[in-house]
Amino acid sequence: MKTVTLPDGRGLPVMGLGTWRMGERGSDKAAETRVIQKALDLGISLIDTAEIYGNGGSERVVGDAIRGRRDDAFIVSKVAPSNASRRGTIRACEASLGYLGIETLDLYLLHWRGGVPLAETVEAFETLKTQGKIRAWGVSNFDVDDLEDMPNLAECSANQVLYNPQSRGIEFDLLPFCQSHNIPIMAYTPLGQSGVVLKNAAIAGVARRHNATPGQVILAWGIRHAGVVTIPKTATLARVEENLGAVSLQLSAEDLAEIDRAFPAPRRKASLEML
Ligand code: NDP
Repeated sequence: MKTVTLPDGRGLPVMGLGTWRMGERGSDKAAETRVIQKALDLGISLIDTAEIYGNGGSERVVGDAIRGRRDDAFIVSKVAPSNASRRGTIRACEASLGYLGIETLDLYLLHWRGGVPLAETVEAFETLKTQGKIRAWGVSNFDVDDLEDMPNLAECSANQVLYNPQSRGIEFDLLPFCQSHNIPIMAYTPLGQSGVVLKNAAIAGVARRHNATPGQVILAWGIRHAGVVTIPKTATLARVEENLGAVSLQLSAEDLAEIDRAFPAPRRKASLEML
């Protein structure tokens, strides 16, 4: 799997799996576990979860899926801003590790910026690293000004943000900022949650030319930049392999121009969109 290099030298796979809305209903759990295991079987090691997804339900499903095969997975979880104090971050991380049934998170993110001073959260992240409970830390939903306020920015190992053809504001300044500071971008909601982007005629045209699916075109579009990885969510077994196909899909200048006409690139700064 192609990777983006983290500040500590490890590789972050360009294709991952999102798990928002997994673990919410007991009746779906077995199928969701199979989807995550299928992703691992195919080499999609990057699994994204968060303490707030299903109140720990998503982390539990991920935990079930990786039991006995911890080394196949690169697990990312997130602390909610309401828990991001010095002590709260440590407690939240320990709870996440318990739900996941693991000793160490590969990457731990602050889900979005809240009222707790960033220095406190970063201090807790550094303590967790020293204790061996996380290997690296990063942020999510941070715009350029938030990153500029960040203590220890050189240690910040990812910024997970909304990015898909319909929401491409980050291309104006956040993406170049992150690229120049070696902070990988994790594109969330890369398919626009199955909405208008997947049904767009220009995307369908590009897909036909490549004998690919609209989902593959949209995901390939997202990871065309250096330093960007993607974490589409699917709970449908067949779509795991479909989405992985995006990694080997090369879009041409003509394809990109067509997508630009349907979804124009940003021409000025706008505040970072988030869900
Ligand atoms: P996505 O853009 O990944 O879309 C998911 C939806 O698309 C699901 O309904 C899924 O259906 C469907 N889908 C998946 N693959 C295909 C395909 N090939 N063709 C057609 N439809 C498809 O939305 P998410 O909002 O879930 O974002 C992905 C992940 O990003 C989340 O799961 C979460 O881990 C993370 N995230 C992080 C946020 C943050 O603030 N940091 C905010 C939002 C998301 P089905 O499951 O039925 O296959």
